[in-house]
Amino acid sequence: MQALSLKPIISKNEIENAVQKLASEIKKDYADKCPVLIGVLKGSFIFLSDLARELNMPLKIDFTRACSYGSKDYSSGSVELVKDIEMSIKGLDVLVVEDIVDTGYTLNFIIKYLEAKKPFSIKICSLMDKPSKRVVDVKVDYAGFTLDKDVGFVVGYGLDYDEEYRSLQDIYELR
Ligand code: 5GP
Repeated sequence: MQALSLKPIISKNEIENAVQKLASEIKKDYADKCPVLIGVLKGSFIFLSDLARELNMPLKIDFTRACSYGSKDYSSGSVELVKDIEMSIKGLDVLVVEDIVDTGYTLNFIIKYLEAKKPFSIKICSLMDKPSKRVVDVKVDYAGFTLDKDVGFVVGYGLDYDEEYRSLQDIYELR
């Protein structure tokens, strides 16, 4: 078996700039509001912590986790809730914070499950978006990076492959 290699695609500096840009957009849209950031574990944990601090505004934080069946680098259509949120979001403005939206299966599942809890609004913020891979039609309201269709599986800045690479400061394509 050939060893895996890492090709740098997004630097720490580019990530910092993207987080600042997202935060200023979100701050403007949620002026005078107190949104609930719902991080989708595990991949979003670093992005959410940077985004929340950059927002520097009143907000609440909770986490959820969904798993899709499939191999380590392929998402299948059947998604299962692994961790529920812990607070009531009824009547509140929810901002789902994702690491990456690929086929859209996971996000579609999460939006439906959160909608059933009757929030006032739901928007999506994803660090990365791979629109060319979309199978289910989900809208990403705030995207840090839109990846080209030839970009493969990415790791780093919270994203893993088989639980490795999450602590890398830059984002890499795994080859
Ligand atoms: P989707 O359901 O949209 O196909 O995939 C969503 C989830 O699959 C993401 O939240 C992420 O956990 C994982 N995923 C999708 N593409 C990638 C990728 O390129 N790298 C990593 N590390 N995870 C991914």
